[in-house]
Formats: sequence, C-alpha cells, structure tokens
Amino acid sequence: MKTCAIVGINWGDEGKGRMVDLLTEDYDVVIRYQGGGNAGHTVVNDYGKFALHLLPSGVFHPGVVNILGNGVALDAENLWIEIESLREKGVAISPENLKISDRASLLLPWHRELDALEEARLADKQYGSTKQGIAPFYSDKYQKKTVLAGELNDPEELREHLRELLEWKNLILTGVYGAKPYTMEELTAWVENYGGKIRPFLCDTGAYLRSAADAGKRLLFEAQLGALRDLDYGIYPYTTSSNAIAAYAPVGSGLPSARLDAVVGVVKAYSTCVGEGPFVCELFGEEASRLREAGGEYGAKTGRPRRVGPIDLVATRYGVQVQGATALALTKLDVLSYLQEIPVCVQYELDGVRTDSFPFPTTLKRAKPVLETLEGWNWEDLPEAARRYVEYIEARVGCPIRYVSVGPERDAIILR
Ligand code: GDP
Repeated sequence: MKTCAIVGINWGDEGKGRMVDLLTEDYDVVIRYQGGGNAGHTVVNDYGKFALHLLPSGVFHPGVVNILGNGVALDAENLWIEIESLREKGVAISPENLKISDRASLLLPWHRELDALEEARLADKQYGSTKQGIAPFYSDKYQKKTVLAGELNDPEELREHLRELLEWKNLILTGVYGAKPYTMEELTAWVENYGGKIRPFLCDTGAYLRSAADAGKRLLFEAQLGALRDLDYGIYPYTTSSNAIAAYAPVGSGLPSARLDAVVGVVKAYSTCVGEGPFVCELFGEEASRLREAGGEYGAKTGRPRRVGPIDLVATRYGVQVQGATALALTKLDVLSYLQEIPVCVQYELDGVRTDSFPFPTTLKRAKPVLETLEGWNWEDLPEAARRYVEYIEARVGCPIRYVSVGPERDAIILR
C-alpha cells in the first residue's frame, strides 16, 4: 500500500491518532490535509501522552517526514505552542521532519474572535463550535479574504495585503458585532511573531510530494474528525467547515493526482459525539456516565464531556460508504468489558418506518434507534463474545475489520 488514508467513520475521536501512530511505521511521509486546531488526536507512546491538534501524528517517528498540506487551517500561534510543547518532551521537530505548504492559508487572530462572537450571538442555537476560528477561517478562505503562508516570504507585499483585509474585517467586527477593531500594529505584530516562527518550515509541499511519490515513498494521509462531520456529507450544519473524507486527501495535501490504494476507516466500539446536533443513539443518565467514565470520553481540546451511546451501525455503514473504506480499525473494544450485555443500534425508525439508510440531516432529529443486545465478555477469559461482537459489526457494516484496538498503547492491537 503506497498511499493510504486514515479517516474517521463516525463523529470524530474514534482513535485515529493512535492508528496513525501505529501505522506510521510502514510509511515515509504523513500528511494532514484538512481542518485546524479544533480537534485533537490523542497519542500515547514512549515520549508520554500527547494531544496533537495540528501536527501530523508521524512526528514521533524518527525519519518520517510530516506535512501540513494546503487544505489545513494554518493557525501559526497554536502550531507554535504545540511544537514547543513537544520539543520540551524531547520530540525533535525541524524543517527536516516538518514541512508546511506555502499554499496553506493563515488563520488570523480575528478568526478565533469572530467564532466566539458568532456563537455568543446565536445564544441557545449554537453549533457547538470549539471557538478555534475554523468556520470564519474557511469562510474567508473561500471568499479569498485571507493570506497564503507563502506570502510571509514577501513582507512588503504582505503588509499591503493585510492592510486591505484589515479594512474589510474591521467593518464586520465593528458593524455586525459591535466589537473592537484591529489596528495594523496589532495585526502585523502577530503575523511577524508567529508567521516568523513557522516561516522556516514553509515549502512547496506539492513539489516535495510529487518527487517523494516518484521515488516510491509511501504516503499516509491523516484526517481530522469523521465522516459525519464532513462539510458536504455530514450532518449539516453540525459539521466542520472542511472536507474530512478520504476523497479530499489528494486535494488538501498538495498531490491532487494521488490515488489512494487503501482507506483505513477508524470506528469506535461505541459512539461518542462532541457538540450540538442530532445524535440518534445517545444514552443519558447513569448508563451514559458509566460509559463516559469507562472510555475517558472528555474532549482532547476542550475537556468537554462527550455525548455517548452504543455503536450505531446505520451511521457506521454510511460512514464506510462515504469514506470508501477498504478496511476498518475498531478501537476501544476493551472499554466495553464492564457490560454484561452490550446494546447495538442496528436500524433507525423514522416516522414509524424502520430503515437501514442514514437519513437526510434535517430529518435525523426525528429518528429513533432500534436496538439489539449482544452478550458481554470477561476480558480475562478468552473473549469469545468479544470476537463475536467484532464479527457481528463487520457483517452488518460490510467492510473487513483488520485491526482491533484494545488499549491506548502502541502495541495494544490485534491484527486480523
Ligand atoms: P482521534 O481524534 O480520532 O485520534 O481520537 P481521540 O484523540 O479522542 O483518541 C481516542 C482516545 O482513546 C485517546 O485517549 C486514546 O489514547 C484512547 N484510545 C485509543 N484506542 C484505544 C483503545 O483501544 N482502548 C482504550 N482504552 N483507549 C484507546
């Protein structure tokens, strides 16, 4: 498998970081192709426990080149904080092993501020943004109202460009939200400071990837969030503002001609969801607390308790389809060991009719889960029932489960 994408099949937080960390051993280059610092991959390895927000999970492997592609929301400030915190723990990060696309657009300080202002305006109708500026950033990118990272190499031109953006953005900040305008001094100080720090990492990552592919290097594309958060195919508007699906990997990485040999979809053995929006299989009360505690389901970026539920096979089958998954990794199976009986959502009931298909986003809130229960297991004994659980999911979802993760550590994995 020369090219492989690792993607989320559900709502995100499926354990992609842990799978990339594991699979990176077989790859030469790891590429993040979308999203920003609004979610976090948790990786546990010899260096310790890390929540990676922007950096590709390959940074822990010596010799692996990591790329932030043109599709990411390049938050120079938070990226720099992340680089520094990893360096403190002994992880080497240099322009040799981290390359940032000069075509990535910069997330500017006002994007975070606008995110918070808009969520406050929405009050009880909030989308549940992590307030990292992702939606305002991508809006501006598509309006062509932000700057490319490569512009940092031409300070004079950049200053002129920033001045134009400032004039426009201040109209929105003051006129729409009644907020304080930015000054040119504030903006240029931020850009010079954080832009200056990441400048040494910038390069034409498209050219790098083309020559890496020509030289037969193995490329691993890493997504953030999951299929149900994809801007086009997810539960709009409770999606993220970029395309998290594998099909976007070639575009967002800088190698638009790439063809994926494999797509590994990561599925958690139960469901979790962060933020607002319909979540058909949601559990509440004591049952939810026990599952949340057992799985440590708190946001990597925000610490927010995640909504939890049984595995949702309707959503999972849909996720497998839109991702074009060729194999699955089922994670956190060990977490379910406390249950005597395991609920599984096998169908939805929508307006009195049972369905296997994932409904149109706006009708989802009327859908009710149809549950079955499978036998639980005792992990100390040979978990025959655990095996049956895996086989059952595989059959219902229609994609081979190649990896079963039974712990956060690198080697807590069963290959099938
Ligand atoms: P990501 O954004 O998809 O990488 O997901 P998260 O950062 O939320 O990662 C999932 C969490 O579960 C992390 O804390 C991992 O260390 C942990 N984890 C991953 N796989 C397993 C597993 O098989 N068992 C257990 N108990 N924890 C796991």
